[in-house]
Amino acid sequence: MSEFVCRECGKSFEKRRGFHAHLKAHSTSIGEYYVEHYAKRDLYTNELLQFKNYDQYFTEDFNHVDNYLSWLKTTSPIKAKNHLIKYTRKRFENKNVKFTPPDLYYMLAQMPNIDYYRKMWRSYSDFSKDLGVDSWFTENLPKNFWEQNSKDMQIFVDTREQKPLNFDNSMKNKLDFGDYTAAGEYYSKTFVDRKAQDDFRQTFGKDIERFRREMDRCVKFNSYMFIVVESSIGKIEEDNKVSKFKSNLGYLWHNVRSLMIDYPENIQFVFAYSRAGAKKIIPKILYHGQDLWHVDVQYHLEKKVHGMAERKTAVSK
Ligand SMILES: [Zn+2]
Repeated sequence: MSEFVCRECGKSFEKRRGFHAHLKAHSTSIGEYYVEHYAKRDLYTNELLQFKNYDQYFTEDFNHVDNYLSWLKTTSPIKAKNHLIKYTRKRFENKNVKFTPPDLYYMLAQMPNIDYYRKMWRSYSDFSKDLGVDSWFTENLPKNFWEQNSKDMQIFVDTREQKPLNFDNSMKNKLDFGDYTAAGEYYSKTFVDRKAQDDFRQTFGKDIERFRREMDRCVKFNSYMFIVVESSIGKIEEDNKVSKFKSNLGYLWHNVRSLMIDYPENIQFVFAYSRAGAKKIIPKILYHGQDLWHVDVQYHLEKKVHGMAERKTAVSK
């Protein structure tokens, strides 16, 4: 039974909402009240923790994920491990997480990324086990993934694809979902949805419900969808700052994260940096097909682009 007792006057309330409304009687804001009576400090900087909302205030121990990462490096391994697992549990609470998500999820959620779990547990799977959540991304990239593509694979391009990529061996064909799939013996129920930056912002912004219906069809056909974006998260963030038609990127990233949680067995996102990058990676994805369903492709792509250096991308909340 959770009960809220006002620390200003001692009155008690059954519901948080009623209690928060009551705070007006003391001419205090909800944030001021909690910072005053439940002062929390950023574990790394020791500054007061900023109040954004109730859940954030009682879940977070840092004002920014960078402070968290700095703290993880300076604290003892035992403390770091305990904090990471408790924090991840809190963040996943009420989210109905069936499988631990890909690396990208953590970046978009402003959480420490998979490398921290891999370093402190032996593997991401061991971390997942400790967390009590099943692993989906259990396999490595095929060894020959970055090598020359097979020339004899034909690619079907959906008839509705607006700006088709020009592949050596392709043919138009109406697809049930997605823009590209492999033909003939190479077909493996693996589909690619190509997204230019603007299209990406629209699909996962205001058109999200339509996209979810497309995903429901994909699930029904036991198929797997790779969303290949002709851009990067950093570029989307930068371009949005100067765009005349700004997207609510906080909402967009929230939708992308939700899709990873709601369709863990049927979707992954690959930010290919550019149209040329998309053209390069799509045949590889279709060629390897089901061998990639359990591979966190974006994670490996980032490693290839940035080496082992730590990535930091500030994303909109
Ligand atoms: Zn009161």
